[in-house]
Amino acid sequence: MPLTSLKGVGPVIAKGMAKKGIERVDDLFYFVPIRWLDRGTVRRISELEAGEDACVVASVDSYRSMFFRHARKKGFEAVVTDGTGFLSLKWFQWSKGYLQKICRKGTVLFLSGKVGNFGGILQIVHPEVAVLGDDENPEATRRVIPLYSQVDGVKQGSIRNIISEALNVLDPSPGGILPRDAEERFGIMGFNDAVRYVHVANGGDFREDRGNEGIRRLILEEYLHFQVTLMSRKRKARCERGIAFSTDGPLYRAFLGNLGFELTGAQSRATSQIISDMGRDIPMNRLLQGDVGSGKTVCAVASACVAIDNGFQAAFMAPTEILAEQHYLNVHRWFAELGIPVALLKGGMGRERRDVLEGIRTGATPIAIGTHAVIQGDVEFHKLGLVVIDEQHRFGVEQRKRLKDKSRFPDVLSMTATPIPRTLSMVVYGDLDVSVIDEMPAGRQKVATKVLSDDDRERAQAMMREEVAAGRGVFVVYPLIEESGNNPVRDAKSMAAELQHRVFPEYRVGLLHGKMSARDKEDVMARFREGELNVLVCTTVIEVGIDVPRATMIVIENAERFGLSQLHQLRGRVGRGRERSRCILLASTKRTHLATKRLRIMEKTSDGFAIAEEDLKIRGVGDMLGVRQSGMPAFRIGDIVRDIDVMIEARKMAEELTAGISEGEMARLMRHIGDRFVDERDLSAIA
Ligand code: ADP
Ligand code: MG
Repeated sequence: MPLTSLKGVGPVIAKGMAKKGIERVDDLFYFVPIRWLDRGTVRRISELEAGEDACVVASVDSYRSMFFRHARKKGFEAVVTDGTGFLSLKWFQWSKGYLQKICRKGTVLFLSGKVGNFGGILQIVHPEVAVLGDDENPEATRRVIPLYSQVDGVKQGSIRNIISEALNVLDPSPGGILPRDAEERFGIMGFNDAVRYVHVANGGDFREDRGNEGIRRLILEEYLHFQVTLMSRKRKARCERGIAFSTDGPLYRAFLGNLGFELTGAQSRATSQIISDMGRDIPMNRLLQGDVGSGKTVCAVASACVAIDNGFQAAFMAPTEILAEQHYLNVHRWFAELGIPVALLKGGMGRERRDVLEGIRTGATPIAIGTHAVIQGDVEFHKLGLVVIDEQHRFGVEQRKRLKDKSRFPDVLSMTATPIPRTLSMVVYGDLDVSVIDEMPAGRQKVATKVLSDDDRERAQAMMREEVAAGRGVFVVYPLIEESGNNPVRDAKSMAAELQHRVFPEYRVGLLHGKMSARDKEDVMARFREGELNVLVCTTVIEVGIDVPRATMIVIENAERFGLSQLHQLRGRVGRGRERSRCILLASTKRTHLATKRLRIMEKTSDGFAIAEEDLKIRGVGDMLGVRQSGMPAFRIGDIVRDIDVMIEARKMAEELTAGISEGEMARLMRHIGDRFVDERDLSAIA
């Protein structure tokens, strides 16, 4: 039911609530209060002491814009009173409209924050504020009041009214997805009770411990929805008919025999897991996870050999054209000797494209490599048997879905180095089988990493000179392509010119960035790969996948602007051969203390998982991966890191709940859950 079906919800309220992600009636139950107000939590101003965290309910007495001399800043001050004394509220950054709206004289505010003493006057700087209606002062009403985070254009009272309206409409039983007896068996609070305790509905006596347990129960509920969705998807996939490939064919054996190196133990293990999936007649849906440089490509190509051995085709999809080009060059090199034609599909191919498409359509070309161009409408495969998705986290679900052949179900192998901490990947890739490559090819050395300040640039350049003089390649990465406004950040274009003319006039400096044409990009990449270019100045276009073993040094400018996981990926561009490699992180002298602390982690460790865990601790999961990019689902209350234990509990319950239930029962559950996790924020690799 849409929110607007509730009495009292007009367009203004609906719009405000939508901004908080509340669109359906049941979303409301998960909009949990930030705290509950009662007489115990609210303090009188006369009793406040500097240094304490306090909640106050008071009305606005006066307000003004002002200049804070000590802070040399403009600011806004409001003075409030609760009849026992006066309290000053200060804002140094504020949105004028917002404060003017809430600071009308006489408006009753709920305030909370750390109390300070400024020249003998009690103050709270940047308090948390909510506007209360007349009947909402807990002192006056002697009731417990749930306090919700401020919604644009919606008063606290309206939020409460809407929620109790929702409860009335759905009464007697909104219900969770667990049947009552299961709630009892698992020993958890009933869903309906949880909703009532949390939102302090239907009068009753409020207890904070029950409220908190209620919140946990609601988190469990949304995690259950998520996990049951995963189970349902996995189940569907199991019913699909796939191709049972016979394994250990001639191409497969020839490929591994001609490689010129032995697979690592981890690569062999992963490859045999993949191949055993391919041997079964249910479609493979496997994720191959392995740190940067661990050698995932070879495993994928070996699997492609299996498909080809069986008379099927393989499609290989990479997120960028330069990466697709690189895969093409590698696979072409490997397959040329074996007499297997390889197609590269990319943008702007002109007439050539027709021939390439023809080869794919007739089956004459057994393997096609490209960006999402591989799955564009006019690409028709003769017999598609395997789809490899490299850097899987870079693709939207929509693109991945379209890969699926219309009549049959090819096996799908996704690959990622996205270092999702182990605890999370277990939950997040719930409907995929996962293989992990946790071993680097022999002879790899740790990339020596050093954080330097901007003003040490010359030292970094001296090191670059050493590498270049020894005939090796150097990447220099900038956060921006070109200068923009008065942004203090360095940009690739002007620095490429500077490095060429002023610093390395005797060497050749190339430039690579995302806005260049595909042809120019390829050209530059090829020249760098072959050693014709000594230094490659670039943006993060090289972030994923690029493999140039002769490059032994990477310098990353404005390193403080990058996330740790991104730095790890960038650093993974070097240290791919036997040569000792180094990575210099040049950070602004103006960086914060925290930034330095983060960068030091890069010096200490080269383990992608460890770096991911650190990143996670510092930045939180949404920030680290970006919800869209990673496909990490957005939960309404649950925090996937903080509440990981609840997620694990939910997983067990979901398994138990769905084990052996009928199709009809599963469909009923899914109707209840809706399609919340089946949209683009959805996390599974292939729907
Ligand atoms: P990633 O897992 O980051 O995609 P790649 O597949 O690009 O890594 O492999 C990185 C480099 O290591 C490539 O140059 C590849 O040829 C090489 N490589 C892969 N496996 C081995 C191995 N077992 N022994 C030696 N070199 C290997
Ligand atoms: Mg790769």
